[in-house]
Amino acid sequence: MDLEEARQALFEQLTPLDGSEDLALGQAQGRIAAAEVKARLPLPPFIASAMDGYAIRRQDFALAISQGLRVVGESLAGHPFTQPLQPGECARIFTGAVVPPGADLVLLQERLLQSYTEGDTTWVVFETHDAQNSHIRPVGNDVAQHQVIAQPGDLLTPMLLGSLAAAGVTQIRVRAKVTVGVFSSGDELQDPATPPEQLKLGQIYDSNAFTLSALLRHLPVDIVELGRLPDDPAIVRRALDEAADTCDLLITSGGVSVGDADFIGTTIAELGQLAFWRLNLKPGKPLAFGRIRQCWIFGLPGNPVSTIVTCLLLVLPSLKRLCGTQPRPLLKIPAKLETKVSHQPGRAEYQRGIYYANTEGDLCVSHTGDQESNRLSTFAGANCLIEVPKDQGDLDSGAWVNILPLSDLLS
Ligand code: AMP
Ligand code: MG
Repeated sequence: MDLEEARQALFEQLTPLDGSEDLALGQAQGRIAAAEVKARLPLPPFIASAMDGYAIRRQDFALAISQGLRVVGESLAGHPFTQPLQPGECARIFTGAVVPPGADLVLLQERLLQSYTEGDTTWVVFETHDAQNSHIRPVGNDVAQHQVIAQPGDLLTPMLLGSLAAAGVTQIRVRAKVTVGVFSSGDELQDPATPPEQLKLGQIYDSNAFTLSALLRHLPVDIVELGRLPDDPAIVRRALDEAADTCDLLITSGGVSVGDADFIGTTIAELGQLAFWRLNLKPGKPLAFGRIRQCWIFGLPGNPVSTIVTCLLLVLPSLKRLCGTQPRPLLKIPAKLETKVSHQPGRAEYQRGIYYANTEGDLCVSHTGDQESNRLSTFAGANCLIEVPKDQGDLDSGAWVNILPLSDLLS
């Protein structure tokens, strides 16, 4: 299976999980709306001025630029002036303030030519100008009354939360969080809290558990850190079986290739169903996906770069689907290679790259050096993946490639 086929297969099998809860807006950031939300009032709720100036009747415009108008009041945001304007009258007005009855035009204060006071009365005269734009916001020009402002599946961003608050909504029904269990697998793995001098020959630190948890954290998930599994089929089997009862999704890394110590794929098949194992993808070839009863499971390859790339391209979009949003197609942007890329035709490859705009404004990209999948350092400074299509051979500097910005993969 190629990457796109695998993504389609995942999106078809994974459906949003049940369950929802009501939250105050302040608790709802990053969660997914579970129901439609309508505005409780139109916005703005009253006819409002868009600028600082003078509210007048349009039919008095000629008078305003010849003899002038009498200022009969002042309307400030939160302090309306509600007396209807009579012929020859105007009101001082500020942005966001109620436009007094009868007024249908705001003349900007910058257009004021002269202002003078006679006794208790202030007069204002304006320069001749084009007063086409009324600088008045009608009721509902932003949001109509009862307009739907959030749909089921919408991600509650700071902006959407702001729109809900503006429309008088204080509580929102959101989808329940997805419980994700993360395992690392391999006899060589040690807790990074172990001092380096206590590591035995052949042992390394478990980094995948940290990267995976951190890669998921922006999603509405509860992460359960399940620790490290030894290369022992009975222990792996028991651990996955138990975790499947409490998690909606399990993610393991390591132990999924075809070596003697690779039990993840076969254990999924024994305990449940293996939907697919191995992809036509570099890095990430050994990936396994399936389910154990009600729990979905990804067996990711253990090389740290493979773990990250498969998490970005397959696990995160799958999780979004479980969370109740619709994953988007991968965002691919053409960029000009500034380095050579070597590639054997066969598998589509996702190399780590750094993109930037050159002085001519062209989008350029260079890879981050030797792309071996153990080299976590290929992600240092990287801000994108460079896609090398499966049938492509080596690429020279100057060739155009597609890049996948990490900012999009992580959004
Ligand atoms: P495996 O997929 O188990 O064959 O592992 C492939 C490579 O990734 C081996 O070099 C492992 O030592 C390494 N590896 C596996 N799991 C982890 C992990 N959690 N953290 C860091 N490296 C790992
Ligand atoms: Mg291993």
